This record gives sequence, structure tokens and C-alpha cells, in this order.
Amino acid sequence: NVERMKQAERMSATGRLAASLAHEIRNPLASISGAAGILRRGAAPAEYLEDSLDIIQKESQRLNKLLTGFLNFAKPRLPRLQHTEPDSIVVSVASLASHAAQERRITIEHQPLALSPEIDCDPEQLRQVLLNLVLNAIEASPADSRIILRTICEDRHICLDVEDCGIGIPDDMAERIFDPFFTTKPKGTGLGLAISSTIIAQHGGTLTFHKNARGGTTFRIQFPLGQEASHAS
Ligand code: ADP
Ligand code: MG
Repeated sequence: NVERMKQAERMSATGRLAASLAHEIRNPLASISGAAGILRRGAAPAEYLEDSLDIIQKESQRLNKLLTGFLNFAKPRLPRLQHTEPDSIVVSVASLASHAAQERRITIEHQPLALSPEIDCDPEQLRQVLLNLVLNAIEASPADSRIILRTICEDRHICLDVEDCGIGIPDDMAERIFDPFFTTKPKGTGLGLAISSTIIAQHGGTLTFHKNARGGTTFRIQFPLGQEASHAS
């Protein structure tokens, strides 16, 4: 029956998640174990020993980051709603990301609303989501380019857009980018978008993306206006 099928689906989603987590953990563990083996034999040239210590430290840090991200995804806390002016969040995210942007000579341009309505959101969570999107945009962008943060007020919605002119998302990848652990980056965790879409869903909003006129990608957070956000998780 339907309930059973739903349960089976849930189980297999959990199983898949556990499998990808195991996979993500196994690689750094193998590196750590290999590095410890080199240290134990001790006969390697000095620089090998140095490298091995480096690997152990870096891979442990990576495991830590992975697990923190995973817990965040698996058990996000419920939003603590506050009346918030969305543009104030955009301003703080632009400043948080400015260092990463400057390193690649990328300009972050903020196009705020003249008269911004307040929304009910968890400011800390919304900041986390926007920062994820902006960092992704920076990583996808060519040097010397521009990222535009735009707030748009529609009839019943407010949209926060992050627009880049970067590498874009191939159609055959579109379905997977929100999956936990899906990443195309050598050092990515693939958890940013998974966490972000959960957080936005908990606010009763949506997180979508589309190809834009500048040849890059626009990620859009859409919040309902004038209606209680849903807390369903
Ligand atoms: P991570 O950043 O660790 O890879 P995310 O969940 O943040 O994990 O993103 C998943 C994948 O989605 C990225 O590896 C990348 O392939 C793709 N992606 C996300 N944002 C963009 C973007 N603005 N432009 C192109 N690709 C993107
Ligand atoms: Mg990311």
C-alpha cells in the first residue's frame, strides 16, 4: 500500500545517504591511514614525514568539516523567526564574502530595494544560505567578473537573487546539485545547497536556479510575503 511504499522510499533515501556519507569518510580515512603507515616505517626522507603529518592534519580537518556539515543537514534546527529587513542580510553577506571575492578580483554588486518590506525569517539561517550561494557564485565565476545580489519584491513574494556569469550548470547535472555530497569541486563537501534548500523549505520558501542572460547562473530564494512561514520539517 501507499504508506508502505512511502516508507520504503524513505528507507532507501536514508540508505543512500548513509552510503554517500560512508564513501565521503572513507577517502580521508584511507589517506590518514596511509600517512600513518609512512610515519611508522620512519625510514622515508624527511620531507615525506613532513608531508605525512600535513596529510593527517588536513584530512582530519576535512572529516570534521564534513561531519559538522552533515549534522547540520541531517538535523537542522527550526527557524527562530524575527521581523527582518532582507537587504540588511544581503549587506552583511556581501561583506562576509568580500575577501574571497577580492582574491579573484570579483566585484559583488548589491541592488537593494528602495522600500524593502520586512520578512519573517531566521536571520542567522538566511545569512548562512545566502553566504553559501555567494561563495558558490564566486567559485563558479571567472576572475575580474561581477556578481549581482538583487532583491525583488513581487505581489506575494520577495526574491533574493544571486546572479553570476560563471561556468553554468549543465542540464544533466541540474537534478543532482541539491543532493547531499554532490560536488564537482576537489575540496567541496556538496552539502551547501542541500542544507540551504532544507532551510528555505522550513521557511515556507523555495530555492531554485536558472540560466541567466549573462550566460551564468542565477540562484533565487523566494519567500512568501504576508503569510505565516510554515515550520513543517
Ligand atoms: P560544494 O560547493 O561543496 O560543491 P554545493 O552544494 O554548494 O557544494 O554545490 C553543489 C554543486 O553545484 C557544486 O559543486 C557545483 O557543481 C554546482 N553549483 C552550485 N552553485 C553553482 C553556480 N553558481 N554555478 C555553477 N555551478 C554551481
Ligand atoms: Mg558550496
